[in-house]
Amino acid sequence: MSDTFSDLDRRDDVIRRQMAQVFDATTDAIVFLDRNYNFIFLNRRAQELLLPGGEVLGRNLFERFPGVVYENSPYVENYRRSMDLGERGEFEAYYPEPLNFWLRVQSYPTDDGIVLFFRDITQERASKEELQRKSEEAERQHAEIETLYQTAPIGLALFDIKDYRYLRLNERQAAFFGLKPEEIVGRTLTEMAPIEGLRDLFDQVRDGAPVINYPLEGTLVTDPTVHRYWTVSYFPVYALDGSIQDITAASLEITQQKKAEQALIQSEKLAAVGRLASSIAHEINNPLEAVTNLLYLARHTADIEEIQQYLQTAEIELRRVSAIASQTLRFHKQSTSPQAITPEQLFESVLSIYQGRIANSGVRINERTRARTPVRCFEGEIRQVLSNLVGNALDAMVGGSGRLLLRTRLATNWRNGEAGVVLTVADTGMGMSDETQAKLFNPFFTTKGITGTGLGLWLSKEMIDRHRGVLRVRSSQSPKHRGSVFSIFLPFDAVLR
Ligand code: ADP
Ligand code: MG
Repeated sequence: MSDTFSDLDRRDDVIRRQMAQVFDATTDAIVFLDRNYNFIFLNRRAQELLLPGGEVLGRNLFERFPGVVYENSPYVENYRRSMDLGERGEFEAYYPEPLNFWLRVQSYPTDDGIVLFFRDITQERASKEELQRKSEEAERQHAEIETLYQTAPIGLALFDIKDYRYLRLNERQAAFFGLKPEEIVGRTLTEMAPIEGLRDLFDQVRDGAPVINYPLEGTLVTDPTVHRYWTVSYFPVYALDGSIQDITAASLEITQQKKAEQALIQSEKLAAVGRLASSIAHEINNPLEAVTNLLYLARHTADIEEIQQYLQTAEIELRRVSAIASQTLRFHKQSTSPQAITPEQLFESVLSIYQGRIANSGVRINERTRARTPVRCFEGEIRQVLSNLVGNALDAMVGGSGRLLLRTRLATNWRNGEAGVVLTVADTGMGMSDETQAKLFNPFFTTKGITGTGLGLWLSKEMIDRHRGVLRVRSSQSPKHRGSVFSIFLPFDAVLR
């Protein structure tokens, strides 16, 4: 009997040892707890894991590891469910300093307590978190790009390269047409914007050459009465194999700016007309005063000879008035077609309106014309440019005598070999600082306070550009040769656009 008993005993012993070996061989940490949550067994892996926190065998789980953070539910509940209700549980728990790891805990109820399987999932969680973080970041970036795409104050669109159909577009692009993006997708570029040359631009992009900051103007199919302006950039979109698969388009509407610019031009024109009116009034006033005086004298003398003399002088003065009037009419004749006019005639009419101012200021005029060939141009515009240059020159020579030099000569544009004339307006005035020279052609730049508009040169430059001409300036403030030189090159056929 006792033999049998001790055999069984030995067998139990063997089983226990074998089980202990198996437990030690597994990579899971295995722990037995009694019903009071005291550690009664730890396999090798469990000891390795938990021992850095101090001896655990025989100690209470919760007292030994008080700072553990259990995910989702209070820790006691996780164990209680197994211990009291006999349910299997699985949860994750973080063991803080000095252990610093996440464990996945599986708890199995037994008759005498619970068995716990621990597995270190610190790495696994970290890479999962990293993955999560990355995908959130990608999502956030995508949302950011999408928001930008939708809210950018610029029209954005994607076209196919076969028929140039809209594949995708943002609200702003659709708003050009007063439509929703989905109402436009699938329609073609030229169907929506029948603008001359637009297809050619797209052909160019399809062949690999991007279009950058190109000025486009015209009307849209949805509102053919409004002429609009844009700055557009078109880029090819390359597929992985290097072929062009789509075209992206970014369009900035600048109609408002264009209108404002045109209003400015109009306002400078008005200012020019105002200046012109006051100088004409001034010019006419002098001879008229003379005539009034002469008539008074004639009325108060009986000497017929003397009367004749007075009337003759009065006639000359009146002729001056009439000359000024006819010059003025020419000056403001707004022609729609270009005229042929000699450089000399241009200067002459400009000088006629400044005669009085020039005489009063004591400025001497030095005129030399070498070019007599007429230039085809919009003479009203060129007169306005010259009038502004002469006006600026006189402004620069206030409070002292000076010299106004007007020159014309034949010349060639070295850029393209085109023949034409150069008109030069130079003064011995105050000259310009480097800073002034840098800003000279900016709209609203003036050093004349409220008497200046700062639009004269800006506009002059534009008019000369439109004539395919060149406006140049040199200026010095050195005492020896103080003054400024403005020169305009105009090709003979200045309006061949
Ligand atoms: P505004 O005459 O209304 O000031 P402009 O565009 O004609 O506007 O000229 C801009 C500025 O350029 C002037 O305010 C002045 O400072 C400078 N400027 C132009 N011409 C001359 C000149 N001949 N001599 C000196 N400064 C000049
Ligand atoms: Mg001016």
